[in-house]
Amino acid sequence: MSTPILEVNDLKKHFPIRAGFFGGTTGYVYAVDGVSFSIAKGETLSLVGESGCGKSTVGKAILRLFDITAGQVVLDGQRIDDMAPGTLRPMRRRMQVVFQDPFSSLNPRMRVRDLLAEPIRNFGLAKDSADLERRVGELMDRVRLPRDAVNRWPHEFSGGQRQRICIARALAPEPDLIICDEAVSALDVSVKAQIVNLLQDLQKELGLALLFISHDLAIVEHMTHRVAVMYLGKIVEVAPRRQLFAAPKHPYTEALLSAVPVPEPGAARERIILKGDVPSPIKPPKGCRFHTRCPYAFDRCRQDEPELRQTEDGHFAACHLHDRPAAENPLAGARGAAVIAHH
Ligand code: SF4
Repeated sequence: MSTPILEVNDLKKHFPIRAGFFGGTTGYVYAVDGVSFSIAKGETLSLVGESGCGKSTVGKAILRLFDITAGQVVLDGQRIDDMAPGTLRPMRRRMQVVFQDPFSSLNPRMRVRDLLAEPIRNFGLAKDSADLERRVGELMDRVRLPRDAVNRWPHEFSGGQRQRICIARALAPEPDLIICDEAVSALDVSVKAQIVNLLQDLQKELGLALLFISHDLAIVEHMTHRVAVMYLGKIVEVAPRRQLFAAPKHPYTEALLSAVPVPEPGAARERIILKGDVPSPIKPPKGCRFHTRCPYAFDRCRQDEPELRQTEDGHFAACHLHDRPAAENPLAGARGAAVIAHH
């Protein structure tokens, strides 16, 4: 793998719970509780998990939308989690974000030309007004929107077109990394695919790294290089896409994958229904955080917290099953999420 553009080391974000407006801290929400990963230049890493697992908090922590509790965020070799605002500013240009809701991300009182010109001006990238206009036109080309649409207002576009404008705005400062936080979740199925294709094309054209935060494994399956699965504030599995989809090594990933439709006609994965709800991040379960819902939990799982360890080349999982003999490990085979044929 080439040099990472982003490294996240043992990141923690604990939000204090206060009793009343002036009250003291009565506890913490352990939203992110020791997350590490890296993204290479030009790579897509997808961060997946159910809502509330902490994946969006990871994205916001990287963007420095709040201070982190512990850990490090390193952008292209420079630690940014403790940088002073003045030093951070040029680094901010290098990482941009696209959020879920394009309508609330765009100021309704600005025409597209101004929406795109704003970040270019903010970072002082244009030499003069002709250069600014040229850059705005190029951004419209990049996201496959007609140049003359720069005179229109956000409400005159469809949801998918508005998301293209958000992507163009994110591209305006010429970043190295774009964080897509549920960026296609609110869109119709066909529009989702178009935006995903656009992101893939842009990645190839510009060598961008993408952190793609999503609860939707079906979307991720077609567009990512690697996948990191989060559960209750921790990463439980990281693997190259093909390996993870063909043979998950964590029972939670296996259950998530079992809900993803299989494209082959006449085939379906055996659906694994997890029991119970996700426990509260205020009081995560002792031992393995997944033990309250895991179909394979055994005594050790209720006591010891499993570390994220390599199970095969580039494939990491946090599960005690991998310390057991293969015959007692249901995830040791080539295919964890069973695919059964309907006859
Ligand atoms: Fe399940 Fe135990 Fe593995 Fe946790 S460590 S995922 S409870 S088998």
